Amino acid sequence: MFVPLGSIILPAGQKWPCCAVLPHKFAFSRGERSGSVMLFPLPRLLAAFSTRPMPLMSDQTSSPRLAQPAQRRPSVAVRIGKITVGGGAPVVVQSMTNTDTEDPASTAKQIAELARAGSELVRITVNTPAAAAAVPRIRERLEMMGVDVPIIGDFHYNGHQLLEAEPACAEALAKYRINPGNVGFGKKKDSQFASIIEMALRYDKPVRIGANWGSLDQSMVAMLMDENHKRAEPWEASHVAREALIRSALDSALRAEEIGLPRDRIILSCKVSGVQELIAVYRDIAGRCDYALHLGLTEAGMGSKGITASSAALAVLLQEGLGDTIRISLTPEPGASRTGEVIVAQELLQTMGLRAFTPLVTACPGCGRTTSEFFQVLARTVQSHVREQMPLWRVKYDGVENLTLAVMGCVVNGPGESKHANIGISLPGNGEAPSAPVFIDGEKAMTLRGDNIAHEFIGILDQYVATKFVSRAG
Ligand code: SF4
Repeated sequence: MFVPLGSIILPAGQKWPCCAVLPHKFAFSRGERSGSVMLFPLPRLLAAFSTRPMPLMSDQTSSPRLAQPAQRRPSVAVRIGKITVGGGAPVVVQSMTNTDTEDPASTAKQIAELARAGSELVRITVNTPAAAAAVPRIRERLEMMGVDVPIIGDFHYNGHQLLEAEPACAEALAKYRINPGNVGFGKKKDSQFASIIEMALRYDKPVRIGANWGSLDQSMVAMLMDENHKRAEPWEASHVAREALIRSALDSALRAEEIGLPRDRIILSCKVSGVQELIAVYRDIAGRCDYALHLGLTEAGMGSKGITASSAALAVLLQEGLGDTIRISLTPEPGASRTGEVIVAQELLQTMGLRAFTPLVTACPGCGRTTSEFFQVLARTVQSHVREQMPLWRVKYDGVENLTLAVMGCVVNGPGESKHANIGISLPGNGEAPSAPVFIDGEKAMTLRGDNIAHEFIGILDQYVATKFVSRAG
């Protein structure tokens, strides 16, 4: 018995629309051509479908449960100025400047921009005596601007000398970051590492021991390669490299503890530039220690590539409860603001339900049902308005960051999505009546018409915030 492929009704009630989507087992050689459709032996076809179990609608055990991040990995809390990293504290957003630290004016300006965008810690490179000398002046400028964000000093090669030579720098920084792969080489490595840890003890500062794929500790790599040669079944080179990265961080942390730095002043990171490698490395190190962990995909790249790769890697780890602080290392477009990486980090945490920073606008992508750009412009206008208002709203209104907004392009999903938001607007698609229903807390509240819809919608939003959120002033 044969049935024509084009008329098969699947158990879920859907038509399988074309033979191109058939599994490989339905090779054309098994069928016979009859007119314009392929014919298949029915018993064989049904047997194949029977391998795809279809749950019944009434089967309550299959009802979808809300996905949520796993319980956070227990880690030792580390205090960095006014910020706590780890120990169950909310995942902290940090960023890094790209100005010349020797220029206190431009560096302080960029730190202030990053802090105002929401960076809770800001790292600066400290690479020369002039840069180290500039650090206290940067701190003074920030204080004059009313910016109290903790500054982290990033040291490579000569950190021990710079901290020793510039006590005011050592004091002004809230944390030191060192890379065990380039803290020193040969016999000097241990003594230079110890010098920096002793400076951290003298000035009461925490330290991030940040290993990096691009500057692996070569003595560690050589030692692990030797061990690997003796294995009955040697690991692949990439496996050895991952182990070297992790061991470099862990052994350095142990050494720091031996020198006297307490566990609550140590944060670890092991950054690589590949998504799957990063996930593998952090899963591994998370199970081998309880130090607070800083997550970041190093050299993530520019634009959408950098955002996608960082989000893919960090989302997996955050969902598994790993990570106490994050940085999205984006390469900015020439001349573009550095704050983009802060916004991406915040949006990643917010869209995953880990933290709330700023109301986010839900907007449909648009399609042929709404060829006007008006809804896109309105979505952008509303998001910009919210971002501009947040510094004030955050101070004035308790919980305003949890506000939800929707701007939709037509009646297909517009009213439905708008009802899920605190405030939503459904704009008219092609051929629809030129009116825009506005929904407030799930109910249709009014309909906007004419040329002033954007202005009126912003007014409704401002009014909602002022009346629905409790003023912090009481
Ligand atoms: S809501 Fe309307 S305009 Fe927007 S994507 Fe859906 S069908 Fe297209």
